Amino acid sequence: MNSNLYALIGLVVAISFIMALKGLSAPKTARRGNLIGAVGATVATIIVFFDPAIEERNNTLLIIGAIAFGVIVGVPAARRIQMTQMPQLVALFNGVGGGAAALVAIVEYLHLGDEASAGEVLATVFTVLVGSVSFSGSVVTFLKLQELMTTRPVVFPGGRFVIAATLAGAIGTSGWVIASGGTTPLLVLAGLSLLFGVLFVLPVGGADVPIVISLLNAFTGLTVAASGYVLQSTLLIVAGTLVGASGTILTRKMADAMGRSLFGTLFGAFTAKPQAAAEAGETRPVKSGSPDDVAILLNYAQRVVIVPGFGLAVAQAQHTVRELADLLAEKGVEVAYGIHPVAGRMPGHMNVLLAEANVPYEQLVEMEEINPTFPQTDVVLVVGANDVVNPAAKTTPGCPIYGMPILDVASAGNVIFLKRSMRPGFAGIENDLLYDAKTTLLFGDAKDSLTKVVNALKAL
Ligand code: NDP
Repeated sequence: MNSNLYALIGLVVAISFIMALKGLSAPKTARRGNLIGAVGATVATIIVFFDPAIEERNNTLLIIGAIAFGVIVGVPAARRIQMTQMPQLVALFNGVGGGAAALVAIVEYLHLGDEASAGEVLATVFTVLVGSVSFSGSVVTFLKLQELMTTRPVVFPGGRFVIAATLAGAIGTSGWVIASGGTTPLLVLAGLSLLFGVLFVLPVGGADVPIVISLLNAFTGLTVAASGYVLQSTLLIVAGTLVGASGTILTRKMADAMGRSLFGTLFGAFTAKPQAAAEAGETRPVKSGSPDDVAILLNYAQRVVIVPGFGLAVAQAQHTVRELADLLAEKGVEVAYGIHPVAGRMPGHMNVLLAEANVPYEQLVEMEEINPTFPQTDVVLVVGANDVVNPAAKTTPGCPIYGMPILDVASAGNVIFLKRSMRPGFAGIENDLLYDAKTTLLFGDAKDSLTKVVNALKAL
C-alpha cells in the first residue's frame, strides 16, 4: 500500500477513536460512539497487514492465528459475562493489553540489539516496567472481583518495606538495562515489575478495587503509547495516549464520587485501622411491610423518588421498576430516579440498566440535583441500594465509605427498602437507616417484590 494512503487511513482511524470517546460521554450517543470505536479498531487491525514499512512478511499466518485465538476466547467471554461482572472483564482485557505491550517491547528490543537508540531503550524500559505491573496487578484485581480470593485488603507485616524494596529494585534494574543493555537485566526487570504489580494491588480492598482497575487501565494506555514509539506506529501512540488520558480522568472521577483520595485508595491499607464489620446477629427491631402496605404508601404520595442500586442489577428488575413508575405517573404521582455516580458496580451502571428498559433520560436525576428535593419527597423507594444511601458516610469517621457523598434519602417523608435480608452492601457495613422509624423494609428479590407492588397498586 502507498505510504501516504496508509498514513491517511491511520489518521482517519485516530479521528474515529476521538469521536468514539466523544460519543461515549453521553448516554444518548454512547451506542454510536461504541460502534465508531469498534469499526476504527477493526480497520486499525486490518491495515497493519498493508504497512509499507514492514519488509518481511513471514509472520502473517502466526498473526492471523493469534487474532483467531483472541476472537475465539474473547467473543464468547464478552457475550456470556453478566453486566455485574463487567469490571472484572475490563480488568482482564486491560491486563492482557499491558502484558502484550511489554512482550512486544521485549521482542522489539532484542530485534533492534545494539542499534536501539537511547529513546527506544527508554521507551522499552518504561513499557516493560509499567506493562508488567499492569498485567499482574490486573490479574489480582480480577481474582478479587471474581471472589476467587478475598476482596478485603491483604496486608502482611513489613509489607510496605517489601513493596518499597521491590519498587526500588525495579527502578535500579531499569538503570542497569539503560547502562549495559542485554536480555538478562530486561527479564529481571520484567520479573520484579510483575511482583510489584501483585504487591501493589494486594493491600487494596473493597470499593477501591475498581478505582485501581481504572488506574491500571490508564497505565496500559501509556505502555501502548510507549510501545508505539518503539514500533514507530503513530496509531498506537494516539490510541495509547487516549486510553492513558481518559483512564486517568475516570480514575479521578471515581475516586471523587466515592469521596476517596487517590493516595488513600492506593496506600490506605497500610495506615488503616481494622474496620468493624457489620455486627453479626444485630438485634435492633426493624419495621417490615407487605407489598400492599408499600402500594398504599406509594398510591397516596405526591412525589416518589426511586433509588436504584446494585440489587436492581442482580434482580434484573429494570423493566418492572419502569412499569411501576409508569403506573404511578398515570395515577398523577410525580416520579424521578435518584442516580448515585457509583451505584452498582461500574460507572454509569444504573444509567445503562434503566436505558435498557427505555426509562426516559429526563427522569434520571443526578445526586447533586436530587438531594435538595428529598425534604419535599413523600416516599423514597430504595431498590437494591445500600451503601449509596448509608448515612454512616457522613457520621462515622474511619468507616470504609466515610466521606463518600450519598443520596440524602433520610430527609424524605418515608423510606422503603427493597432487599432480601439484613445483609450489608458492598462496603460490608451496617446501615442505621434500616432501623429508622420512617423506614419500611419489603424483604424479597427486588423483581418479585416490585411485581407484587405493581399488582397491588393496580388493584387499588
Ligand atoms: P450495595 O452493594 O451497597 O447494596 C446492594 C444491596 O442490594 C444490598 O443491600 C443487597 O441486600 C441488595 N440486593 C442484592 N441482590 C438483590 C436482589 N436480587 N433483590 C433485592 N435486593 C438485592 O449497592 P449500592 O448500589 O448501594 O452501592 C454500590 C457500592 O459498590 C458502593 O459501595 C460503591 O462504592 C461500590 N462500587 C461501585 C462501583 C461503581 O463504579 N459503580 C465500582 C465498585 C464498587 P440483600 O443481600 O439483603 O438483598
